[in-house]
Amino acid sequence: HAIDQHEHLGIFNETMLRRSQYGHTLETQLQGAAQRQELSLMYQPISDVDTGRWIAVEALLRWQHPQLGAVPPSTFIPVAERSGQIYQLGDWALQTALRETQAARALWPEAHVNVNVSPVQLLMPDYAERVLQTLADLQVPPQLLTVEVTESSVMQDVDLACRHLRKLRDAGVRVALDDFGSGHSSLSLLTELPLDTVKLDRSFLREGAQATARGALLRNTIRLARDLHLSTVAEGVEDAAMLARLSDLGCDYAQGYHISRPDHLEDLLSLRR
Ligand code: C2E
Ligand code: CA
Ligand code: CA
Ligand code: CA
Repeated sequence: HAIDQHEHLGIFNETMLRRSQYGHTLETQLQGAAQRQELSLMYQPISDVDTGRWIAVEALLRWQHPQLGAVPPSTFIPVAERSGQIYQLGDWALQTALRETQAARALWPEAHVNVNVSPVQLLMPDYAERVLQTLADLQVPPQLLTVEVTESSVMQDVDLACRHLRKLRDAGVRVALDDFGSGHSSLSLLTELPLDTVKLDRSFLREGAQATARGALLRNTIRLARDLHLSTVAEGVEDAAMLARLSDLGCDYAQGYHISRPDHLEDLLSLRR
């Protein structure tokens, strides 16, 4: 939990990884990781709270290094963001997610994929054009894709982010605000950004101290999203009780270990609901 919060604030990443030998090793080893086929994507389904039907999958990067083992994205993505490697990594993730999801449509015709976008990518002046060009190059309909942006990535340059997101939405790409409620979330952001979906951070569902206050926040955030015609996805749904509660609160979709752990797309297709 402590690490989780620090990650959001960037404290853990900045101070512990920057000058460390491990951070340097990761940066060196990340070079060419895609060509050496050490990178892959795992996919986690997002399901309709009431019917259980899967509406999309989220693509999640994995890096399996021969000596270092599995390096988690929360460790190597900040390194890549600092070194600039995130541009290539982000391109690789987008292209791979689109190719694999397009291929999965043979078995799952309405397959839809969510791809995470780094704040660094969103600051590129031509970010939206590049995404649309990738879709065109791969001959993938824009409606297949949702980009997930975080509040902090949008806040770096709200005007630029809005231009990118508007351009993407005009072309048919959907936009989700990720990890909402994890940091110093401002409700006004929901009215200002061109969004389709709000992903409610899993901290909303945490048990223990302040669970009642978090529950009230969750209920009211779902209500506000509905008034703004935004769909809601609850993240980190780990048991049936949480799912039932989300249904009562009017949350649209759910993602979490209770529905499925992230898995290879082929394996998910046979389990699909
Ligand atoms: P995220 O976008 O919030 O992704 C959800 C994370 O929650 C994933 O961790 C997922 O495995 C985990 N998760 C899913 N269900 C549950 C649950 O029921 N309980 C708990 N405790 N955790 C659950 P993962 O795969 O380790 O990814 C961590 C973060 O790394 C992601 O958080 C995202 O911010 C980043 N990331 C992953 N792939 C990419 C990528 O392609 N590009 C960028 N820029 N960031 C990525
Ligand atoms: Ca995400
Ligand atoms: Ca999230
Ligand atoms: Ca998160």
